[in-house]
Amino acid sequence: MKTAKIRLYVEHPLGQGQTIPLSRDQAHYLFGVMRQGAGDLVLLFNGTGGEWRARVAEAGKRGGTLEVQEQTAPQRDPPDLWLLFAPIKKARTDFIVEKAAEMGAARIIPVQTEFTNSERIRQDRLQAHAVEAAEQCGGTYVPEVTDLQKLDTLLSDWPEDRQLMFCDEALAGAGATLRAAGGGAWAILIGPEGGFSEAERARLSALPYAHPVSLGPRILRADTAAVAALSVWQQALGDWA
Ligand code: SAH
Repeated sequence: MKTAKIRLYVEHPLGQGQTIPLSRDQAHYLFGVMRQGAGDLVLLFNGTGGEWRARVAEAGKRGGTLEVQEQTAPQRDPPDLWLLFAPIKKARTDFIVEKAAEMGAARIIPVQTEFTNSERIRQDRLQAHAVEAAEQCGGTYVPEVTDLQKLDTLLSDWPEDRQLMFCDEALAGAGATLRAAGGGAWAILIGPEGGFSEAERARLSALPYAHPVSLGPRILRADTAAVAALSVWQQALGDWA
Protein backbone atom coordinates (compact mmCIF):
# COMPACT_ATOMS: atom_id res chain seq x y z
CA MET A 1 0.00 0.00 0.00
CA LYS A 2 1.16 3.50 -0.79
CA THR A 3 2.01 5.71 2.13
CA ALA A 4 1.43 9.44 2.19
CA LYS A 5 4.55 11.54 2.76
CA ILE A 6 3.64 15.03 1.67
CA ARG A 7 2.05 17.15 4.39
CA LEU A 8 -0.09 20.11 3.50
CA TYR A 9 -1.65 22.83 5.65
CA VAL A 10 -5.17 23.70 4.49
CA GLU A 11 -7.59 26.33 5.76
CA HIS A 12 -10.57 24.03 5.61
CA PRO A 13 -12.54 21.84 8.03
CA LEU A 14 -11.26 18.26 8.03
CA GLY A 15 -13.42 15.16 8.43
CA GLN A 16 -14.07 11.85 6.77
CA GLY A 17 -15.48 12.28 3.24
CA GLN A 18 -14.76 16.04 3.08
CA THR A 19 -13.78 17.42 -0.31
CA ILE A 20 -10.97 19.94 -0.14
CA PRO A 21 -10.52 22.36 -3.04
CA LEU A 22 -6.90 23.21 -3.77
CA SER A 23 -5.65 26.73 -4.42
CA ARG A 24 -3.60 27.45 -7.49
CA ASP A 25 -0.39 27.47 -5.42
CA GLN A 26 -1.21 24.18 -3.72
CA ALA A 27 -2.06 22.54 -7.06
CA HIS A 28 1.18 23.82 -8.54
CA TYR A 29 3.13 22.47 -5.58
CA LEU A 30 1.42 19.06 -5.44
CA PHE A 31 1.11 18.28 -9.13
CA GLY A 32 3.80 20.43 -10.75
CA VAL A 33 6.62 20.34 -8.19
CA MET A 34 5.95 17.10 -6.31
CA ARG A 35 4.59 15.21 -9.36
CA GLN A 36 1.54 13.84 -7.56
CA GLY A 37 -1.54 12.78 -9.50
CA ALA A 38 -5.04 11.36 -9.10
CA GLY A 39 -5.11 8.52 -6.57
CA ASP A 40 -1.99 9.63 -4.69
CA LEU A 41 -2.16 10.16 -0.94
CA VAL A 42 -1.25 13.26 1.06
CA LEU A 43 -1.51 14.24 4.72
CA LEU A 44 -3.50 17.32 5.71
CA PHE A 45 -3.80 19.43 8.84
CA ASN A 46 -5.61 22.70 9.50
CA GLY A 47 -4.07 23.77 12.79
CA THR A 48 -6.91 22.56 15.02
CA GLY A 49 -8.23 19.21 13.77
CA GLY A 50 -5.24 16.86 13.88
CA GLU A 51 -3.77 15.15 10.81
CA TRP A 52 -5.79 13.40 8.10
CA ARG A 53 -4.98 11.27 5.11
CA ALA A 54 -6.50 12.41 1.83
CA ARG A 55 -6.57 11.09 -1.72
CA VAL A 56 -6.10 13.23 -4.80
CA ALA A 57 -9.48 13.12 -6.58
CA GLU A 58 -8.77 15.60 -9.36
CA ALA A 59 -5.42 17.01 -10.41
CA GLY A 60 -5.26 20.03 -12.68
CA LYS A 61 -2.72 22.72 -13.56
CA ARG A 62 -4.59 25.46 -11.75
CA GLY A 63 -6.52 23.53 -9.15
CA GLY A 64 -7.76 20.20 -8.00
CA THR A 65 -9.58 18.46 -5.19
CA LEU A 66 -8.66 16.12 -2.38
CA GLU A 67 -10.95 13.68 -0.65
CA VAL A 68 -10.36 13.19 3.07
CA GLN A 69 -10.17 9.53 4.17
CA GLU A 70 -9.26 9.10 7.83
CA GLN A 71 -7.50 10.73 10.75
CA THR A 72 -3.86 9.70 11.10
CA ALA A 73 -2.89 11.74 14.21
CA PRO A 74 -4.73 13.68 16.90
CA GLN A 75 -4.36 17.45 17.30
CA ARG A 76 -1.31 18.33 19.36
CA ASP A 77 -0.89 21.88 20.61
CA PRO A 78 2.40 23.28 21.91
CA PRO A 79 2.79 24.59 25.47
CA ASP A 80 1.49 28.13 26.09
CA LEU A 81 4.76 29.77 25.12
CA TRP A 82 5.26 33.00 23.18
CA LEU A 83 8.51 33.98 21.52
CA LEU A 84 9.20 37.72 21.47
CA PHE A 85 12.20 38.69 19.36
CA ALA A 86 13.56 41.84 17.78
CA PRO A 87 13.73 41.33 14.01
CA ILE A 88 17.20 41.30 12.49
CA LYS A 89 18.34 40.78 8.89
CA LYS A 90 15.79 39.10 6.64
CA ALA A 91 17.35 35.63 6.35
CA ARG A 92 18.04 35.47 10.10
CA THR A 93 14.53 36.63 10.94
CA ASP A 94 13.13 33.93 8.64
CA PHE A 95 15.34 31.43 10.45
CA ILE A 96 14.03 32.49 13.87
CA VAL A 97 10.40 32.06 12.79
CA GLU A 98 11.08 28.67 11.19
CA LYS A 99 12.95 27.40 14.26
CA ALA A 100 10.37 28.77 16.71
CA ALA A 101 7.62 26.90 14.85
CA GLU A 102 9.66 23.68 14.90
CA MET A 103 10.57 24.11 18.55
CA GLY A 104 6.95 24.47 19.65
CA ALA A 105 6.27 28.15 20.23
CA ALA A 106 2.52 28.83 20.36
CA ARG A 107 2.79 32.45 19.20
CA ILE A 108 5.59 34.44 17.60
CA ILE A 109 5.72 38.18 18.24
CA PRO A 110 8.28 40.40 16.48
CA VAL A 111 9.02 43.32 18.81
CA GLN A 112 10.55 46.72 18.24
CA THR A 113 13.05 47.62 20.94
CA GLU A 114 15.22 50.73 21.26
CA PHE A 115 18.11 49.24 19.29
CA THR A 116 16.08 47.24 16.76
CA ASN A 117 17.47 47.96 13.31
CA SER A 118 14.54 46.82 11.25
CA GLU A 119 11.34 48.83 11.51
CA ARG A 120 9.31 46.73 9.13
CA ILE A 121 8.57 43.07 8.65
CA ARG A 122 6.62 41.14 6.05
CA GLN A 123 4.11 39.45 8.35
CA ASP A 124 2.59 37.37 5.52
CA ARG A 125 5.98 35.98 4.50
CA LEU A 126 6.89 35.14 8.09
CA GLN A 127 3.52 33.43 8.58
CA ALA A 128 4.18 31.36 5.43
CA HIS A 129 7.52 30.28 6.92
CA ALA A 130 5.73 29.10 10.06
CA VAL A 131 3.28 27.09 7.93
CA GLU A 132 6.13 25.45 5.98
CA ALA A 133 7.96 24.60 9.18
CA ALA A 134 4.84 22.93 10.61
CA GLU A 135 4.37 20.98 7.36
CA GLN A 136 7.88 19.62 7.43
CA CYS A 137 8.25 18.89 11.17
CA GLY A 138 5.12 16.77 11.50
CA GLY A 139 3.29 19.34 13.61
CA THR A 140 -0.47 19.80 13.58
CA TYR A 141 -0.32 23.34 14.97
CA VAL A 142 0.78 26.54 13.23
CA PRO A 143 1.89 29.39 15.51
CA GLU A 144 0.45 32.78 14.68
CA VAL A 145 3.09 35.34 13.68
CA THR A 146 1.84 38.77 14.70
CA ASP A 147 2.69 42.15 13.22
CA LEU A 148 5.61 44.08 14.64
CA GLN A 149 4.74 45.48 18.08
CA LYS A 150 6.52 47.99 20.28
CA LEU A 151 8.07 46.26 23.29
CA ASP A 152 7.02 49.24 25.39
CA THR A 153 3.35 48.88 24.49
CA LEU A 154 3.43 45.12 24.82
CA LEU A 155 4.81 45.39 28.37
CA SER A 156 2.21 48.01 29.30
CA ASP A 157 -0.60 45.61 28.35
CA TRP A 158 1.12 42.49 29.66
CA PRO A 159 -1.13 39.73 31.08
CA GLU A 160 0.10 39.42 34.65
CA ASP A 161 -0.22 35.65 34.82
CA ARG A 162 2.28 35.20 31.98
CA GLN A 163 5.88 34.84 33.10
CA LEU A 164 8.69 36.28 31.01
CA MET A 165 12.07 34.66 30.41
CA PHE A 166 14.12 37.77 29.81
CA CYS A 167 17.31 36.73 28.00
CA ASP A 168 19.73 39.41 29.08
CA GLU A 169 23.16 39.48 27.46
CA ALA A 170 24.43 41.51 30.42
CA LEU A 171 24.08 38.33 32.49
CA ALA A 172 26.30 36.29 30.14
CA GLY A 173 28.21 33.94 32.42
CA ALA A 174 25.99 34.39 35.47
CA GLY A 175 24.00 31.34 36.48
CA ALA A 176 20.23 31.71 36.39
CA THR A 177 17.60 29.05 36.71
CA LEU A 178 14.14 28.74 35.27
CA ARG A 179 12.96 25.66 37.04
CA ALA A 180 12.13 27.50 40.24
CA ALA A 181 9.70 29.72 38.37
CA GLY A 182 7.14 26.98 37.59
CA GLY A 183 4.95 26.20 34.59
CA GLY A 184 1.87 27.87 33.09
CA ALA A 185 1.84 30.67 30.53
CA TRP A 186 5.25 31.95 29.48
CA ALA A 187 7.04 34.16 26.99
CA ILE A 188 10.70 34.31 25.96
CA LEU A 189 12.25 37.67 25.09
CA ILE A 190 15.30 37.94 22.81
CA GLY A 191 16.87 41.32 22.05
CA PRO A 192 18.29 42.75 18.83
CA GLU A 193 21.91 42.69 17.58
CA GLY A 194 22.53 45.86 19.57
CA GLY A 195 21.21 44.29 22.77
CA PHE A 196 18.88 45.97 25.27
CA SER A 197 19.25 49.59 26.36
CA GLU A 198 19.90 50.36 30.02
CA ALA A 199 16.38 51.81 30.31
CA GLU A 200 14.85 48.62 28.89
CA ARG A 201 16.99 46.45 31.14
CA ALA A 202 15.96 48.44 34.21
CA ARG A 203 12.28 48.27 33.31
CA LEU A 204 12.37 44.56 32.47
CA SER A 205 14.30 43.62 35.58
CA ALA A 206 11.77 45.38 37.80
CA LEU A 207 8.73 43.55 36.40
CA PRO A 208 7.36 41.03 38.92
CA TYR A 209 6.69 38.43 36.24
CA ALA A 210 10.09 38.77 34.51
CA HIS A 211 12.95 36.33 35.10
CA PRO A 212 16.31 37.61 33.84
CA VAL A 213 18.19 34.63 32.45
CA SER A 214 21.70 33.96 31.19
CA LEU A 215 22.31 31.77 28.16
CA GLY A 216 25.87 30.89 29.13
CA PRO A 217 29.23 32.64 29.12
CA ARG A 218 29.31 33.64 25.42
CA ILE A 219 27.30 36.36 23.68
CA LEU A 220 25.10 34.58 21.15
CA ARG A 221 23.70 36.04 17.98
CA ALA A 222 19.98 36.71 18.29
CA ASP A 223 19.01 33.75 16.08
CA THR A 224 21.22 31.37 18.08
CA ALA A 225 19.89 32.84 21.33
CA ALA A 226 16.28 32.22 20.22
CA VAL A 227 16.91 28.52 19.57
CA ALA A 228 18.97 28.14 22.76
CA ALA A 229 16.29 29.80 24.90
CA LEU A 230 13.51 27.70 23.36
CA SER A 231 15.56 24.54 24.10
CA VAL A 232 16.23 25.52 27.68
CA TRP A 233 12.59 26.37 28.29
CA GLN A 234 11.23 23.24 26.59
CA GLN A 235 13.61 21.08 28.60
CA ALA A 236 12.80 22.70 31.96
CA LEU A 237 9.09 23.52 31.66
CA GLY A 238 7.75 22.46 28.26
CA ASP A 239 6.78 19.33 26.37
CA TRP A 240 10.23 17.72 26.22
CA ALA A 241 10.04 16.59 29.79
N1 SAH B 1 25.30 43.47 21.08
C1 SAH B 1 25.00 42.86 22.34
C2 SAH B 1 24.59 41.42 22.19
C3 SAH B 1 23.21 41.18 21.63
S1 SAH B 1 22.94 39.48 21.38
C4 SAH B 1 26.26 42.88 23.20
O1 SAH B 1 27.35 42.85 22.65
O2 SAH B 1 26.14 42.88 24.42
C5 SAH B 1 21.23 39.46 20.95
C6 SAH B 1 20.29 38.95 22.02
O3 SAH B 1 20.53 37.57 22.28
C7 SAH B 1 20.41 39.62 23.37
O4 SAH B 1 19.68 40.81 23.47
C8 SAH B 1 19.86 38.55 24.32
O5 SAH B 1 18.46 38.57 24.34
C9 SAH B 1 20.33 37.28 23.67
N2 SAH B 1 21.61 36.77 24.22
C10 SAH B 1 22.75 36.55 23.53
N3 SAH B 1 23.70 36.01 24.33
C11 SAH B 1 23.14 35.88 25.57
C12 SAH B 1 23.60 35.34 26.83
N4 SAH B 1 24.83 34.85 26.98
N5 SAH B 1 22.74 35.36 27.87
C13 SAH B 1 21.48 35.86 27.74
N6 SAH B 1 21.00 36.36 26.59
C14 SAH B 1 21.81 36.38 25.50
